[in-house]
Amino acid sequence: MTKIRRFRQTKIVATLGPASGDPDMMRRLFESGVDVFRLNFSHGTHAAHQKNVETARALEKEFGQPVALLADLQGPKLRIGKFKDGKIALKAGQQIRFDLEEALGDETRVQLPHPEVMEVLEVGSEILLDDGKVRVVIEEKGKGYLSAQVKAGDVLSDHKGFNVPGVLLPIAALTDKDKADLEAAASMGVDWIAQSFVQKPEDLVETKKLIGGRAALMAKIEKPSALEHIGDIIELCDGIMLARGDLGVEIPPENVPAVQKRIVRQVRHAGKPIIVATQMLESMVSNARPTRAEASDVATAVYDGADAVMLSAETAVGQYPVEAVSIMNRICEKTEIDSTYRRIVDADHPEVEEDASDAITVAATYVAEDIRAACIVNYTTSGSTVLRTVRQRPDVPILCLTQSLQAARRLVLSFGVRTYHITDVNSFAETVEKAVSFVKDKGFAQVGDKIVLTAGVPFGVKGTTNVLRIADVE
Ligand code: PGA
Ligand code: MN
Repeated sequence: MTKIRRFRQTKIVATLGPASGDPDMMRRLFESGVDVFRLNFSHGTHAAHQKNVETARALEKEFGQPVALLADLQGPKLRIGKFKDGKIALKAGQQIRFDLEEALGDETRVQLPHPEVMEVLEVGSEILLDDGKVRVVIEEKGKGYLSAQVKAGDVLSDHKGFNVPGVLLPIAALTDKDKADLEAAASMGVDWIAQSFVQKPEDLVETKKLIGGRAALMAKIEKPSALEHIGDIIELCDGIMLARGDLGVEIPPENVPAVQKRIVRQVRHAGKPIIVATQMLESMVSNARPTRAEASDVATAVYDGADAVMLSAETAVGQYPVEAVSIMNRICEKTEIDSTYRRIVDADHPEVEEDASDAITVAATYVAEDIRAACIVNYTTSGSTVLRTVRQRPDVPILCLTQSLQAARRLVLSFGVRTYHITDVNSFAETVEKAVSFVKDKGFAQVGDKIVLTAGVPFGVKGTTNVLRIADVE
């Protein structure tokens, strides 16, 4: 079996697209460091996504290690209509009208085919178009139209997206397309489903019901209203993506860094995985090397304590997908061995919960440190023990042994976790034996090393981690 050994603990998510959607390229990306493949349902056919799922599962077999798949739903992305000539040019200071009419737009008016959105916009509301390149402020509101003054002008073309920051929109959290995509993704067997433009906790309820336990639910944070309800949103979902692309349009760019630090910390403390996403190595869409500022951005997410960093256009449509993954891999590795990194991460340990499983799991991380164990091995049924370990951000690998293939795949996203699906253990003694041969075989420990192991006895009962064992690797 082909073996792969990763030295970093921060995980890498890569978005698939025309630049990366063939088996050979996916294999190269995986070998270069990708842990999680993201299927972007804003683009591509179901057939293409299905094919990528099959390729990922084949890699999993070949390398003997679970791969996680994240399906990202488009969500209620607001778009303008079309223009007679495909586009118009707008200049600061001019007036422009937005309306619900059927006629194609022109230099004086833009189709805005969202009556419910028009309804809640007021004089003084701001509309940001095409990722904020065009900015207008509404000066007059009439029946079926808005009149606005252009504050920042640019070319505006057909179907460009628009954002209305700070306004809670009375729109459905899932579109019909999202529901169809969700169903398709779940039946393809993806491990995570991400919901875009979550505004409030209730938005997650229907999604969770539709997923029905077939995948874990990720909430994308890209609306100011989601920031207001972040605690409840974290509680309801299984993981968070800080989607800085749309978020940075909806809130001022200068607010993004502080939000990133706050949210990463909060999600880590909740014991759930957090991905920092978008524009990390953006210039690599057309350059073989990143800017120094981009390298620093990836490192910042690592210093912040993120579980994973993500590539979007870089691997989906870029000219240098393999290079982007490789450099991201190296930045994570370098950052994690910096002593400042350890100091920052260790300075912020979450409090131990008053509960036996948490006490044992946290103790295991300290024991591992004190005896300089080669790794921590968590035998888990549901994965919850592993998430407790992850929360501590130990500086040794966390090996997850589980009989649940679903848990093994989902946990690939989490900081420091290497998951292995095992099928044939029936007792604690067997687990210890298995763990020792595993860590040797996978290169996580050598003869003479010690490992720290946790498990629940009796076997196979969820949520009963109650044993901590130090084992010698012989
Ligand atoms: P998107 O989400 O790529 O689906 O827009 C990520 C983001 O907004 O940052
Ligand atoms: Mn987005």
